[in-house]
Amino acid sequence: MNHEYTLAMLERADLRPYLNDEQFEFRRSINRVLTKHASSEYIGMCDEEKRFPKELIEVGVEQGWFALTLPEAYGGIGDYMDMTAFLEVAAYHSIALSRFWNANINMVGGAVARFASEEIKAEVLPALANGQGWLAFALSENGSGSDAASLTTRGVADGDDFIIDGTKMWITGAMQAKYILTAVRTDKEATKHNGISLFLVPTDTPGLEIRPIDLLGGSAIRTCEVNYVGVRVPKRLVVGELHMGWKRLTAVLAKERVALSAMCVGAAQAAVDLARWYALDRKQFGQPVFDFQAVSHMLVDMQTQVDAARMMAYRAAKLLVDGQPCDAESSQAKYFASDVYVKVATDGLQIMGANGYAMEYPMQRHYRESKLFQIFGGTNQVQRNIVARALKS
Ligand SMILES: Cc1cc2nc3c(=O)[nH]c(=O)nc-3n(C[C@H](O)[C@H](O)[C@H](O)COP(=O)(O)OP(=O)(O)OC[C@H]3O[C@@H](n4cnc5c(N)ncnc54)[C@H](O)[C@@H]3O)c2cc1C
Repeated sequence: MNHEYTLAMLERADLRPYLNDEQFEFRRSINRVLTKHASSEYIGMCDEEKRFPKELIEVGVEQGWFALTLPEAYGGIGDYMDMTAFLEVAAYHSIALSRFWNANINMVGGAVARFASEEIKAEVLPALANGQGWLAFALSENGSGSDAASLTTRGVADGDDFIIDGTKMWITGAMQAKYILTAVRTDKEATKHNGISLFLVPTDTPGLEIRPIDLLGGSAIRTCEVNYVGVRVPKRLVVGELHMGWKRLTAVLAKERVALSAMCVGAAQAAVDLARWYALDRKQFGQPVFDFQAVSHMLVDMQTQVDAARMMAYRAAKLLVDGQPCDAESSQAKYFASDVYVKVATDGLQIMGANGYAMEYPMQRHYRESKLFQIFGGTNQVQRNIVARALKS
């Protein structure tokens, strides 16, 4: 069964202030392609079998989506508004595709494009855009999650190289990656936020070991533990200035929050639509369950919350595109949209009764996957701290 993002959703008039005609057409074309290639059965099979959605990612490469926000010289054609439009529609069909895109193109590809040397860009970005050189991002460790700057993975200079030792946790897409952008403490005398450098570590370097971790959801794109034992990396693979990685990381993380909010909006809309279609079809006491006010009001609240989350995501994206400060707005968009996604997945499952709880229906996947969005990309408590700082200033 393939669901389409309804035309009414794709062409929403409330997005007119944010998107031009070309971007509306882009949304329609993403929807057409994914309706064909991301069936509910295929998405479910990849999740159940913990299988990388290779065919779907290849379609994305063919469509040029994996160059979207890269510099023009590397095939890029879009800005963060195109990214938001893309991720909303992509996540409606496949959260795996949108997460993989975000890690590769928005986060690591974006960091390489903005901060790496021309030599590294020429080495990494063409292969990325044509699907021949995937990337992953390694910041978190066992002992440093929300307090990411307390990371202890260390890099010690040795001639023209650095030797890296440590363990990174929860690394999305590490199994497919050709390089892992790794945050490493290179100056242990410096204060916590200083002395961190970003290395593009080739995954075929001796001493690097990748192990997938079993999770509640999102298993089509495996999340991994990455061990670095005496991993030798040439200095030329530092992205940005040595020891100045933290400043670069904060720029990457702000963009991630906007991306995650757009993904939550698309995925949450999918959950609302599944519940709505089910409620219209399912009859009890001689009438569609939709016609019980208790059910229709739940659906109304669900749609209202998704609409509000959508406006917050596009507002944050517009500020980002315009080069305006948007730390608070991107955090608001991220925590609000992910809280909404969890809420509509929970209520949507309730509306579907036992079928909502059955593995045969896709709603359980939203129920499991939505929770992740309140945790990664900075937990929702940490996002509220960012907004609190803005309120206090
Ligand atoms: C599926 C998945 C994929 C991921 N992908 C990546 C990846 O590709 N690369 C990467 O580097 N990381 C990745 N992560 C890690 C993710 O970014 C961290 O899980 C996240 O930053 C939170 O860290 P933690 O899990 O250690 O929680 P902790 O920091 O231990 O937090 C525990 C609890 O304390 C709360 N808390 C902590 N500090 C504060 C505070 N100051 N104020 C209020 N509450 C606080 C948190 O909100 C949380 O509820 C991924 C995680 C998951 C689950």
